[in-house]
Amino acid sequence: MTTIRSYKKHIENLDQQFLWHPFTQMKEWMGEPPLIITEGRGSFLKDINGKWYLDGVSSLWVSVHGHRKKEIDLAIKEQIDKISHSTLLGLTHPPAALLAEKLVKLINLSLLPRHSSLTRVFYSDNGSTAVEIALKMAFQYWQHKGIKSKKTFLSLDNAYHGDTLGAVSVGGIDIFHQTFSPLLFKTYRAPSPYCYRCKFGKSSPSCKFFCLQKMESIMQKHHKSLAALIIEPIVQGAAGIIVAPPGYLKGIRRLCSKYNILMIADEVATGFGRTGKMFACEHENIMPDILCLAKGITGGYLPLAATITSKQIYDAFLGAFRELKTFFHGHTYTGNQLACAAAIANIGLFKKEKTLNSLQGKIKFLKKELDNIKELRRVGDVRQRGFMAGIELVKNKKTKEPYPIEDKMGWKVCCKAREHGVIIRPLGNVIVIMPPLSISNQELKSLVRITAEAVREITG
Ligand SMILES: *Cc1c(COP(=O)(O)O)cnc(C)c1O
Repeated sequence: MTTIRSYKKHIENLDQQFLWHPFTQMKEWMGEPPLIITEGRGSFLKDINGKWYLDGVSSLWVSVHGHRKKEIDLAIKEQIDKISHSTLLGLTHPPAALLAEKLVKLINLSLLPRHSSLTRVFYSDNGSTAVEIALKMAFQYWQHKGIKSKKTFLSLDNAYHGDTLGAVSVGGIDIFHQTFSPLLFKTYRAPSPYCYRCKFGKSSPSCKFFCLQKMESIMQKHHKSLAALIIEPIVQGAAGIIVAPPGYLKGIRRLCSKYNILMIADEVATGFGRTGKMFACEHENIMPDILCLAKGITGGYLPLAATITSKQIYDAFLGAFRELKTFFHGHTYTGNQLACAAAIANIGLFKKEKTLNSLQGKIKFLKKELDNIKELRRVGDVRQRGFMAGIELVKNKKTKEPYPIEDKMGWKVCCKAREHGVIIRPLGNVIVIMPPLSISNQELKSLVRITAEAVREITG
């Protein structure tokens, strides 16, 4: 008989001996005992000692209807009893086909099909691959159209599109991406709409979208070589929840159309209700040419991603086999049956529970709670769009002087919050709050209260 204590020790030892954690300085990791999660329910996670924590970042932005959601649990169990996986290379299966229709309907219901509507679903298994696929599709599209010069991309400062090399090439977060620069392909980079730290020293709306004007001048100069622009619509997540001012995204769509550049919307983080609408593009009534979805697509259960594109792009790949217009790309677990079954249940719940309706009140409630945090002495900016919120800590509120990276202020605040029963994760000096959409107001209140307390305790 192993006691809980010896089992815990055993897992700790195995972790420290054999695991290499993502985005983690392992030397520091080894210095303290890891938090071991063994169960989840609703907005909560339970550790191996039986202590419950609020899951303040939706298990890294994926959980939608909470943990152990009956309908999703059941959908997966039912699918397991049929088959867990078969390939989409040369075969098909019901969950992949049914989900594809649901995704297309959902997108065209949510987003005005003002430009071409999105009608084709290409599956993969994570956000980075969804982006790789979008980039390769956009590139190959122009090759097929005979406009061979269109082979570069335009992306934004502070962008995050994943960690594979194509996605890193269009990324703009130096601390993550700089190291790999010798391996990357060249892209054009436009300024990010980071109004709190506007690099032109302007403020919105009196700037009249100065950063968009900069973007336009890049397009003007380089449109002949630009295949596509890639953007995280409305919110640049990993850079620290940078929220674009209203009208910015619409401006992007207009410019892409004007200069004949495909628009790729990376809604890996913002999709599935995260910003208060089903998709972030909905806020400004725009339709991208290619849409990338992942994170919330299975409600936070299983790895699945989709790259969805228009008939116009899809049609360019049609031809006799010998023409080699085929899109030669695919991942082994593409469109996994269990993951697709989970995604179907996830989407079904939005309708059944009117998730987006009940979310609106919670978004307002969160805003009200966050207003108190704004007043804290070391809080420079609080940004929120829907259920994505970021609290930017500063050393000096007046000068906006940031804490030096090595101070690890964000990290310290999150550790303190953990002591009080809340799991959150920082992005540098930004504390992220991104709870499951199913969280209750009561839980939301504790989440923000404990976060505020942790900020106060750590920053003095
Ligand atoms: C998380 C994220 C990705 C990468 O997704 P993975 O599943 O981690 O590969 C891409 N784009 C955005 C906007 C993201 O937030």
